Amino acid sequence: AKSRGRGTSSLFQPTMDVRAAARRQNENDLRKALALREFSLHFQPQIDLQRNVIVGFEALLRWHHPERGLISPMEFIPLAEEIGLIVPLGEWVLSQACLAASCWPSDISIAVNVSPCQFGDTDRLIDAVAEALAAADMPGSRLELEITESVLLQDADRVLDALHRLRAMGVRVAMDDFGTGYSSLSQLHSFPFDKIKIDRSFVKDRADDRGQDAVIRAIAALGGSLGMATIAEGVETPEQLARIREGGCKIVQGYLFSRPIPVEEVDLMIARHNSK
Ligand code: C2E
Ligand code: CA
Ligand code: CA
Ligand code: CA
Repeated sequence: AKSRGRGTSSLFQPTMDVRAAARRQNENDLRKALALREFSLHFQPQIDLQRNVIVGFEALLRWHHPERGLISPMEFIPLAEEIGLIVPLGEWVLSQACLAASCWPSDISIAVNVSPCQFGDTDRLIDAVAEALAAADMPGSRLELEITESVLLQDADRVLDALHRLRAMGVRVAMDDFGTGYSSLSQLHSFPFDKIKIDRSFVKDRADDRGQDAVIRAIAALGGSLGMATIAEGVETPEQLARIREGGCKIVQGYLFSRPIPVEEVDLMIARHNSK
C-alpha cells in the first residue's frame, strides 16, 4: 500500500508481515504438494512445418492448489528453486513425462524443462534421467531436455561433461528461450545443443516487424550452420506462422495449434493430427 505520510511505519509494517506470512504459507504448501499429488503435467504439441505432423510434446508443470486453484509455474518454480524443492520436483517431472510419452507412437518425442539448479548436482541429474528412461522403458533418443542459458553461467567444464554424458545416452538438449540472455552467441558453439528454441519475444507482434524477421532468419541460419534445428515458441496467429516459416524455422509450438493439454487428450490429438 502507498503511504500518505500519516502513520507510515505502522501501515507499512503489517503489510510486510502479511507478505512474509503469505510467503511462508506458500512455501509450506509447496513442500507438501508433491506428497499430496497436487502437481500434474500438461503437454503442448510441437509441429514439423514441412510434414505438418506432431513431432513432439513439451511437458509443462501445473499445480492444483486445493484452495487457490491452478497456479502458474512462473509463480512457483522460482520459489521451488529457492527452497531446493525443484530437484525432487524436477525428478518427478522427468519420470512422469517419460511414462506418459512411452505410451505414444515411438516417433514422437518428449521435451522436459530442466532447472539450472538441477545442474548443481549433475551426477544426480544424470541418474534421474537414466532412471526415468528405464522405468518407462523408453530410449533416450525420445527425450529432449530444455535448458536455459543461465545453466552455462555455472562451471562450464562440469556442465559440458554432463551434456556429453546425456548425449551418450541418446538424449537431446535444446537451448530454451534463446536470445533472451547475454551469453547466447558466445556460448552457443561451444556446447553440444541439438536445438535452439527461439524465444516468444521474437515471435510476438511488434511495431517494427522488419527487424524481427531479420532476427528470426538470422537465428535459423545460425542454427542451421551449427547443425542445430530451430523451433519457435509462442506462435499464436497465422501471420506469425508465416513469418516463422519464411524465416526458415522448421518446427513450431504455440496456441495457434494448441494450448498445453492434459495427458488424457494427447492420444486423440495425435490420432487426429498425424493420421491425415
Ligand atoms: P517455457 O519453458 O518458455 O514454456 C513456454 C510457456 O509459454 C508455457 O507457459 C506455455 O504454456 C506458454 N505458451 C505456449 N504457447 C504459447 C502461446 O502461443 N502464447 C503464449 N502467450 N504463451 C504460450 P507455462 O506452462 O506457464 O510455463 C511457464 C514457464 O515455467 C516455462 O516457460 C518454464 O520456464 C517453466 N516451467 C514449466 N514447467 C516446468 C518444469 O517442469 N520444470 C521447470 N524447471 N520449469 C518449468
Ligand atoms: Ca521450455
Ligand atoms: Ca521457452
Ligand atoms: Ca520462456
